[in-house]
Amino acid sequence: MATPYPKVYFGDSIVGSAQATLGVATSAVLYGLSVYTVFPVHVDGTRRTAFRLRDHFQRLVESCKIIGIDQFAKEWDFERFLAVTDELIGANDPGRDVFVRATVHVDESIPGTRVRGCHTKVSMFVYNATPIVPQDGIRLKTSPWRRIPDDAIPSRAKVNGAYVNSVLAKQDAIDSGYDDCIFLDGNGHVCELSAANIFLVRGGTLITPDPSCDILDGINRRTVLTLAAEEGIPVVERHVDMTELYIADEVFVTGTSAGVAHVVEVDGRSVGDRVHGPIAQTLRKRHSATVRSDALHGWVTELS
Ligand code: PMP
Repeated sequence: MATPYPKVYFGDSIVGSAQATLGVATSAVLYGLSVYTVFPVHVDGTRRTAFRLRDHFQRLVESCKIIGIDQFAKEWDFERFLAVTDELIGANDPGRDVFVRATVHVDESIPGTRVRGCHTKVSMFVYNATPIVPQDGIRLKTSPWRRIPDDAIPSRAKVNGAYVNSVLAKQDAIDSGYDDCIFLDGNGHVCELSAANIFLVRGGTLITPDPSCDILDGINRRTVLTLAAEEGIPVVERHVDMTELYIADEVFVTGTSAGVAHVVEVDGRSVGDRVHGPIAQTLRKRHSATVRSDALHGWVTELS
């Protein structure tokens, strides 16, 4: 992640980034007990917009609910989330596209491991929007590390501590000369990457693991599914076997920090002819237009 911009929302105000610190004995630090989301803010001249901000807020609320953080939903609604986003972007005045990371931290120092009723603190910071995977052809490796199942640490909740799973798998992929990993579940079915969802195309049909396959229900995943349906592309959400990726016509990934980016290689096997396939191209184009301007779905929020 790039360095945060100098102004950070922390607690209940905007402060200098050096003032936004958590105590060493808080559960957020000790156990990774925080939940978060990352959303994009696009800057076109004087126009600033956020993409699917309401859905990001809703996913943050749901992550809190799954983990048992009960204070956030009592104190925050979408209007407050929007107002803070607006103020934070105004304070930093970025001249380019940025990401905003919003986190709810359990900042209490308590004996033992529990969460219900604990005090939380919200942080939001801005950083330059740089893709985390190559945009001109990704090389992926299936990971020896399995995806954490829903009944251990749910991937559906964006819990900071759970990202140790992603770190293990991504580092293994990098150490092996690849760009990113593919997580499988305990039964060998495909889940997702370290921080992106995965799609494949076979015989003109778009296929992706369904939301009960130990994945994050990615907001760009949902976006691409909607856009594909509008383009008349048949879509199936189901279990995916690892070897289906080896014989797919196209494979691509989606995510706020990954974009919509095509895969050229999985486990040393070329995907199709290693080119940017027609369905991935169509959806990438539609996606990059939609994130900045969208009268059809109401996904773009104007900031001041
Ligand atoms: N899966 C994981 C594990 C992620 O961390 C992310 C990034 N938030 C995604 C998928 C993609 O989600 P989104 O489209 O909401 O950014």
